[in-house]
Amino acid sequence: MKIPFLNFKVQHDLLREELFNSFQQVYDSNWYIMGKHLTVFEAEYASFNQVDHTIGVSNGLDALYLSLKALGIGEGDEVIVPSNTYIATALAVSYTGATPVFAEPNPQTYNISPENIVKAITSKTKAIMPVHLYGQACEMEAIMDIAKALRLFVVEDNAQGHGATFKGRMTGSFGHLNGVSFYPGKNLGALGDAGAITTNDAQLVEKVKCLRNYGSKVKYINEEIGHNMRLDELQAAFLSVKLKYLMPFTSQRQQIAEWYNRELSGVGDIVLPHVHTEASHVYHLYVIRTAHRDKLQQYLNDNGIGTLIHYPIPPHLQKAYANLGHVKGDFPIAEELADTSLSIPMWPGMTEEEVKIVTHTISRFFNEK
Ligand SMILES: *Cc1c(COP(=O)(O)O)cnc(C)c1O
Repeated sequence: MKIPFLNFKVQHDLLREELFNSFQQVYDSNWYIMGKHLTVFEAEYASFNQVDHTIGVSNGLDALYLSLKALGIGEGDEVIVPSNTYIATALAVSYTGATPVFAEPNPQTYNISPENIVKAITSKTKAIMPVHLYGQACEMEAIMDIAKALRLFVVEDNAQGHGATFKGRMTGSFGHLNGVSFYPGKNLGALGDAGAITTNDAQLVEKVKCLRNYGSKVKYINEEIGHNMRLDELQAAFLSVKLKYLMPFTSQRQQIAEWYNRELSGVGDIVLPHVHTEASHVYHLYVIRTAHRDKLQQYLNDNGIGTLIHYPIPPHLQKAYANLGHVKGDFPIAEELADTSLSIPMWPGMTEEEVKIVTHTISRFFNEK
């Protein structure tokens, strides 16, 4: 029996009729951009995320970029991002003309460490971008305290954290403007590219709405050089359907993580996910670590089990960021994580039997070694 890394079949069978109905509604409405489905989804997501406002945009990267841009960040500024994040966090900074400055994560939670944020701050620092990596909330209280004391902006990268909490409060509700992705594989995924910005600041909402729609508040009146970074009606309608299932699906992910924790505890040199006492984890990804990562991945692949590495090369060692002048050894924690991390199969609807096929194969690898 083959176990893919990700399987949409369970949720798409369940939602098939509702999603097809949404398609038909949008199709028959003859209105495809900036209509009522967008407005409805924005209100629903704001309510879900416990914020005053949600602004739908084209994708997660654009959500992060528009957030920084709306905060006035640009050339000559520095923005602190984790050294072990997906490249999109850093790219959003680069798009504005500012410089991404990397700070190392806590080696247990893999989330950006407040102490290392403080060490990375200079007179040019304008903002901090915590990433709720793999679905675990960052230490938002300490991060907001640092930002407040030094008058820095916070833009949460909530692309992997839908519904996660720190001290009971949801990710995407702490920062000044926060970006979320609805890329199909994310915990809340559209059927194509989509994203949003969440905030409690009404003034910033106006700024972002203007930037996402050609720098225009009134049709054909352009106040600034804006963008076309809108969320279309079809994706908004699909997302309204899928949002209703996000928390039940999240509970399923957490159940699957418990099965993995139980079955993999004490196996080989495997390091299991560690959750901070005040944080919750929505398991966008279930990531284990082992010194034998490459051989284990090959073995699982040979046995029909799909895995991925998040992420094999940290941003500071990417060719795209050669201009920053970093070398191997500059961010040893991120580099160690890149060499040892392995994401194993995880999707809502994955059964205990499927989990056991994965864990028994992993155990067999360590026994045969
Ligand atoms: C997916 C992701 C993004 C980008 O989202 P897109 O919708 O693909 O543009 C940004 N940051 C992180 C951490 C992500 O996982």
